[in-house]
Amino acid sequence: MSRQKSTTALPLYWSWKTLREGRAGCAEASLLTVEADQNRVESRLAAGKIDCPECPGVLRSWGWARTRGVRGVAGMFRPRRARCRGCLVTHVLLPVTTLSRRAYGVEVIGAALTARAGGSGHRPIGQALGVPAATVRGWLRVMAARAEAVRLFLWQVAARAGVDQPVPEALGSPWRDLLAALGAAMVAVTGRFGPVGVLGPVTAWQVAAACSAGRLLAPGWPQAGPGGGGNTSSP
Ligand SMILES: [Zn+2]
Repeated sequence: MSRQKSTTALPLYWSWKTLREGRAGCAEASLLTVEADQNRVESRLAAGKIDCPECPGVLRSWGWARTRGVRGVAGMFRPRRARCRGCLVTHVLLPVTTLSRRAYGVEVIGAALTARAGGSGHRPIGQALGVPAATVRGWLRVMAARAEAVRLFLWQVAARAGVDQPVPEALGSPWRDLLAALGAAMVAVTGRFGPVGVLGPVTAWQVAAACSAGRLLAPGWPQAGPGGGGNTSSP
């Protein structure tokens, strides 16, 4: 039985081939991120323009993943399943507007994390976003426990994408430090690939979704830097 991975599609040239060295260390399923426009994903797949993150091969259509609804993202959608002709690994192509196993889009979750950095608690955040407070509390707890690791991960992404500066010392607010790192990663990624290389407008939280391969709040992420299994996951 071939292995199955989950893939998200972001900018045209954004793939882990460009930002990581070598293949992921984990042999289990991983996520691959693709852009939100499914028509463009289809045309890129048909043209052989989505690279396999595992080998020099390209991905081809291979059926569909289960239909899912994500709040904050228009309607129901059904991610494409794709398979590499070279290594035969199957991937689920998750749009960059979503996170693995989360019922809300990454912009909603990102808005909650941003509000937390501004000093809000889970109740007012939930009220403002129309999300149950317990759900917001869950997001905040997960991120609070990994904020420093994510901050360092995002600075590594920024460095690999071209922001050549040392990781600054933490300033005392893990939430604001996290947003600073995310801002640097976004500037570096969009600066490197430019408006031509990036498919459509990309937000900071989409950069976070892409460079975590949809695993921003998933168990076990980030395990290491961008080269160390950061994109391995089950769908
Ligand atoms: Zn492959």
